[in-house]
Amino acid sequence: MGLFTRRKTVFVDSDVLVIGGGMAGCGATYEARYWGRDLNIVCVEKANIERSGAVAQGLYAINTYMGMQWDENQPEDHVRYARNDLMGLVREDLGYDIARHVDSCVHMFEEWGLPMMRNPETGRYQREGKWQIMIHGESYKPIVAEAARKAATKVYNRIMVTHLLMDKTKAGRVAGAVGFNVRTGDFYVFRATAVIVTAGGASHIFQPRSVGEGMGRTWYAPWSSASAYALPILVGAKMMQMENRIVLTRFKDGYGPVGAYFLHLKTYTENAYGNEYESNWYESTKEIVGDYIDHQPVPTCLRNHAFLEETKAGRGPIRMVTKEAFKDPHLETVGWENFLGMTIAQAVVWASQNIDPKHTNPELTTSEPYVMGSHATCSGAWASGPEDCAPAEYQWGYNRMMTVDGLFGAGDTIGGAAHKFSSGSFAEGRIAAKAAVNYVNDQGNDQPQVSETEYEDLKKAVFQPLENYTIGRNEIVAGTVSPSYLLPLHGLQRLEKIMDEYVGGIGSHYTTNEPLLTRGLELLDMLREDLNFLGAEDLHQLQRAWELKHRLIASESVTHHTMFRKETRWPGYYYRADHPKLDDTNWHCFTLSRFDRESGNWKMEKAPVYHIID
Ligand SMILES: Cc1cc2nc3c(=O)[nH]c(=O)nc-3n(C[C@H](O)[C@H](O)[C@H](O)COP(=O)(O)OP(=O)(O)OC[C@H]3O[C@@H](n4cnc5c(N)ncnc54)[C@H](O)[C@@H]3O)c2cc1C
Repeated sequence: MGLFTRRKTVFVDSDVLVIGGGMAGCGATYEARYWGRDLNIVCVEKANIERSGAVAQGLYAINTYMGMQWDENQPEDHVRYARNDLMGLVREDLGYDIARHVDSCVHMFEEWGLPMMRNPETGRYQREGKWQIMIHGESYKPIVAEAARKAATKVYNRIMVTHLLMDKTKAGRVAGAVGFNVRTGDFYVFRATAVIVTAGGASHIFQPRSVGEGMGRTWYAPWSSASAYALPILVGAKMMQMENRIVLTRFKDGYGPVGAYFLHLKTYTENAYGNEYESNWYESTKEIVGDYIDHQPVPTCLRNHAFLEETKAGRGPIRMVTKEAFKDPHLETVGWENFLGMTIAQAVVWASQNIDPKHTNPELTTSEPYVMGSHATCSGAWASGPEDCAPAEYQWGYNRMMTVDGLFGAGDTIGGAAHKFSSGSFAEGRIAAKAAVNYVNDQGNDQPQVSETEYEDLKKAVFQPLENYTIGRNEIVAGTVSPSYLLPLHGLQRLEKIMDEYVGGIGSHYTTNEPLLTRGLELLDMLREDLNFLGAEDLHQLQRAWELKHRLIASESVTHHTMFRKETRWPGYYYRADHPKLDDTNWHCFTLSRFDRESGNWKMEKAPVYHIID
């Protein structure tokens, strides 16, 4: 008898099921209750919403705030900014929708007790940059989580969702989700009318710079394990722009962010010989991307590009000039507090490497690539847009509904709307939840039905790695290498190596081409076959096993998209060496993919980019 047959199954009914209780998930849970007073609203989270998600690493700024009450910026300005930063390719309808609602979210955070910094002269929120305002971020996530907890019918913590369930009565309609409790091992079947996926972005897809015992310290949260993409992909939702991975310039070895340093401390970078270097690369970059290099602000990827070229030319390391700013005691305090509130590891790295930024200009580096939808990048699901401003081709249902009926998303999950960050993700969660409640009301008595066969099959599959381990461990007497199973860590390292070497990671200077991608896909295919033999010694490793499976699916998507786009649209994020230039004639478009779970094939297509803001 298999282990799985002894496991308890818990059934949970809901009208709206929110998967992932991070920023977007908390926004969705809160808003679903506002519009659906009598509805059954359930939030399920693999950690504990009190401190879960990328924000739980601690933040020092809310990166998206218009300041419309003071006429600082208008939503249209933000759309122009994001469009410019993403080299023209954003869903302007989605970005506009978030920008017009984000300020009210920030005002709620303050009302709920989030300590905001204020400019003593103007009384306004303290600006760090044009879009960012400074906060004391330690309590950010617990405050937002409290609102979600009070709004939800129930929050289920410590349950990792592994699969979505589809309706057995109507093809192409979602019916719920399954997962397991990472502490008790109970199997959960969530039946739902509408599902909102808000499960964060993806780290550890590409080989990180931090390895060995440091591998838990990546830039994006190590627990962001691509469920946001794998769950919809597996039920046939279309994805967009998955090739648009992000690479970040960060302080070396601790991934400490540079935003506050550039924007607030007014520090700047120089090469190893103390020279400004970005202008060295102006002409050659113009040859690749044309006029985009003249845009202001210079797109994030192009600033990375100059950094990478200067380093390849042998004039690294690139350093942040902190010595001048740190002469001012106030700025010195801000510089340190920035890390203590957000990236303590960077302060520890500096202390351990004898770096005092008052006396030494610290080194910068570029990170491994990440896949996400909320930063200076916009990979994710292809979603229907807002009724009042989305072009017809971007509208097929309810706002933020994917191409699967009843399946919604927000935050890192949804593609096309870059620069949402924490506040924009929360705002998008609210937008998605309002639409999901409308969807639930419109279904009336036509409720989706889950299939017993489907969830029983999934139950068997979910616990299979425990079974593999229990049986396979009898064949080894020492060590961790078994002839009949592989451990999640081993599988993860293999995935990261493939992505690094074939799909444009740090080891290949972010460069790839069609032959490399073709081979990469073959190797990913073999890895997928081998993951049937994952062995998990306990529930923690079972979670690692499913995180790895989700990462693999997202990686396949990234690789197919990278292969499809035959140009180098974002130099500094990645390079197609066989198509080294930006090609607006053929590729000023979105790339879309759909995975067919019956055949296992990926279908790629182009979608038009509509510019609705002048
Ligand atoms: C180092 C760092 C610095 C940042 N700095 C800033 C900043 O200064 N200002 C700013 O505004 N933004 C910042 N951000 C960005 C911000 O954190 C994200 O934009 C935002 O958290 C995205 O929201 P989300 O809800 O999509 O994802 P998350 O907030 O990451 O939430 C995803 C949730 O889903 C859960 N989950 C994942 N998989 C599953 C599963 N299978 N089953 C159940 N639950 C699951 C996770 O545990 C998590 O709670 C930063 C992020 C990082 C990592």
